[in-house]
Amino acid sequence: MIEHKDWVTEKWQNVEIRYRVRSMIYDEKSDFQHMQLVDTYQYGKMLILDGIVQTTENDEFFYHEMMVHVPMLSHPDPKKVLIIGGGDGGILREVLRYRSIEKATIVEIDPLVIEFCREHLPGISKGAFDDDRTDLIIEDGAVYVNETKERFDVIIIDSPDPIGPARILFSEEFYRDVHSVMVPDGIMVRQTGSTNMQPDEQKEGFALLKGIFTHTMLYLYTVPTYIGGLFSSVFCSDSVNPLDINHEELKRKFTLTSIETLYYNPGIHLGAFHVPGFMKERLQ
Ligand code: SAM
Repeated sequence: MIEHKDWVTEKWQNVEIRYRVRSMIYDEKSDFQHMQLVDTYQYGKMLILDGIVQTTENDEFFYHEMMVHVPMLSHPDPKKVLIIGGGDGGILREVLRYRSIEKATIVEIDPLVIEFCREHLPGISKGAFDDDRTDLIIEDGAVYVNETKERFDVIIIDSPDPIGPARILFSEEFYRDVHSVMVPDGIMVRQTGSTNMQPDEQKEGFALLKGIFTHTMLYLYTVPTYIGGLFSSVFCSDSVNPLDINHEELKRKFTLTSIETLYYNPGIHLGAFHVPGFMKERLQ
């Protein structure tokens, strides 16, 4: 991320995007990554890791709602959830809105991210780290899934792109360990990047996961500050095929939760799995 006193710039090979800044709150290297927290005019406070925007106050709900409500409402009765990464607390917040949840385990490698997000972005976690059902573990997610005896209904991998400490979270070994800590009717979702800027991430991730899970489906949505327009996540399960989910049944389940959302709804949920032709071609 290049700073000018009034702007920060996210820089990709052939594309740059600039954000006008009110103030730079934090700009240091942690033990794991370069962490910046800036207050921007357009998106409010913004967390940046290794030069890439992770989350902002004004558009975080696009991503957090699609990463949580798609798997949670697809699962018959989720009680135990595992979150890998997710140090800003947005995924944890949305998961804990389900009354059925007995335990939400969050495994984050960098305690500084949690500390800074709790202090400067409290509107994202909304007290989720203090919930009795939260089990916070500071550890490398790859080590955790390799060693844990716990089993989970839903696993949500909220990691940055495959750089720095997150690289291991895109490996076959990690995915096989994730598969082994899921219950038979379990569901795993993870972000697979921008369709325009990171085509290889979808192609390679999808091919790898198809070899491990019975059902592997990509779903698409948009996150304004995730560069490149269309953003993608992958849904993996041995028992739940997202295309078999009935719209009426999904609406009934969503209404029963009485969860109000800003982006997610059952129509968007089902539509997100009907990907355009260029993506179908890419995944073949
Ligand atoms: N939504 C963002 C995205 O899609 O790019 C990710 C946000 S979240 C802040 C990413 C978190 O993953 C960071 O707090 C980072 O420290 C954490 N992380 C990176 N590598 C990790 C690992 N190996 N184990 C656990 N957490 C990790």
